[in-house]
Amino acid sequence: MPEGASDPGLTEKQRRELEVVRCMIGIYCRGHHGSKRAELCAECRELADYVAQRVARCPMADSKTFCSSCPIHCYRPAMRERIRAVMRYAGPRMLLVSPIKALAHAVDTLRERTRGGKGRA
Ligand SMILES: [Zn+2]
Repeated sequence: MPEGASDPGLTEKQRRELEVVRCMIGIYCRGHHGSKRAELCAECRELADYVAQRVARCPMADSKTFCSSCPIHCYRPAMRERIRAVMRYAGPRMLLVSPIKALAHAVDTLRERTRGGKGRA
């Protein structure tokens, strides 16, 4: 599937999450695997595909914001480790590369955390 292809069946929120995650994996891959801009090595492409699958099939798509703050944790342990490494590395850097996207992600995550456990308003 070409980069930026529309994913039918995904909500706006899911599309946004995928965009952020792909961006983060790209930053990580460039830093760790020396890939070129807008390209991923085979390993990172596998991870990106995996995340896309999880997001598309997530049963909680409408009730939570991002898989990183999801209570279900449907990621396979090995993949979770990889995505966490990506987030740790790319999270702060994303503020430099794409401040608006990173901020939107942080705001959504915070909003979700604030609401968590207290029920819905
Ligand atoms: Zn890579």
